Amino acid sequence: MALLVQKYGGTSVGTVERIENVAERVIRSRREGHDVVVVVSAMSGETNRLLGMARSIDPNASPREMDMLAATGEQVTIALLAIALQKRGQEARSYTGAQVRILTDAAYTKARIREIDTRRIRDDLREGRVVVVAGFQGVDAEGNITTLGRGGSDTSGVALAAALKADECQIYTDVDGVYTTDPRVVPNARRLDKVTFEEMLEMASLGSKVLQIRSVEFAGKYNVPLRVLSSFEDGPGTLITYEDNGMEEALISGIAFNRDEAQLTIKGVPDAPGVAYRILGPVADGNVEVDMIVQNVGADGTTDLTFTVHRNDYDKAMGILRKVADEVGAREVSGNARIVKVSVVGVGMRSHAGIASTMFGALAREGINIHMISTSEIKISVVVDEKYLELAVRTLHDAFGLDKAA
Ligand code: ADP
Ligand code: ASP
Ligand code: MG
Repeated sequence: MALLVQKYGGTSVGTVERIENVAERVIRSRREGHDVVVVVSAMSGETNRLLGMARSIDPNASPREMDMLAATGEQVTIALLAIALQKRGQEARSYTGAQVRILTDAAYTKARIREIDTRRIRDDLREGRVVVVAGFQGVDAEGNITTLGRGGSDTSGVALAAALKADECQIYTDVDGVYTTDPRVVPNARRLDKVTFEEMLEMASLGSKVLQIRSVEFAGKYNVPLRVLSSFEDGPGTLITYEDNGMEEALISGIAFNRDEAQLTIKGVPDAPGVAYRILGPVADGNVEVDMIVQNVGADGTTDLTFTVHRNDYDKAMGILRKVADEVGAREVSGNARIVKVSVVGVGMRSHAGIASTMFGALAREGINIHMISTSEIKISVVVDEKYLELAVRTLHDAFGLDKAA
């Protein structure tokens, strides 16, 4: 008998019928003798609908009220699932994040979990109940409702699994595991049996939205056995695990991409100590997060700097950069909001040379121009024009032999 935390995402609870399907799946786990804590997301599209209503009143609505509003989405699904379980003769109780007491900091819309009180959950499990917890939400020390950022139910699931020392955290979604790349872009993508925490963290950070970044961080930190599975069909899914010697040493595990990027360039900046600080300091002060940064080698006493930001921050960053350019006497400021980042990820890269040249060669053959490059031990990222996204991903997927075995 095991203790399982099962998280079901928006599509998996997208209709009443699907919620009933989740109830069936949970009951099957109970019949196999397991204790089950279920974490659910809002019905698919609901969080967007809620936030959209608020923005239609005021695009700058206060984050506290945005969280108050967004948290209602999950409150609907926990109740419906508990009702579906009870109808089937399975005792169940639903709880909001605040009721459990998932204590978070006070950073509305991106709160971090500090502590989870597991007493109520444990009591219910002891009584043979299934416990249904609202994902994506918590409560701060003052009793305000907070949310954990988009996709945050994954993190709720993993954090609950860590707090309860569950035997496995199962993330049920609309794909049957983690693939070599988003199967919506490359139909030939292959499901991975296993992927390391490190690789999954890179893939999530580089844009693969199958798991929220924080959930992977959390699982790695607290050693939570984490599995991604389909809520629609049975299968082994993908296990996220530590690197072990027995693992098939794939050179590249996957291709990630991020459509949310924009690029800004400042040219002809006087080349002196502190240039990067004078330019990027004000950007950071404006609360704009910078992703990739490239500074050119100075020539004629001046230099250029290019960096990327989230597309939503493009206008804001451009405003700041124009001001900075005036102050430091730069020659010119330009930008491009129609770029994307494509990355290849794999721990096998550590011990193999030539990955970069394979990557650049494949892109060159398709005539895809690379604007920026950045590397780390286990990933190489390039910035390319948005129109080449699908082509670049498919080309690289093919170049690294990631397609399904023919
Ligand atoms: P949920 O609502 O269950 O949380 P998400 O939409 O957040 O589901 O995540 C699942 C989606 O992630 C899939 O439908 C798929 O399109 C996308 N995705 C992106 N990259 C990958 C990948 N490498 N493997 C599997 N799915 C991926
Ligand atoms: N409902 C929230 C969202 O759409 C949380 C989640 O689905 O994980 O972002
Ligand atoms: Mg998700």
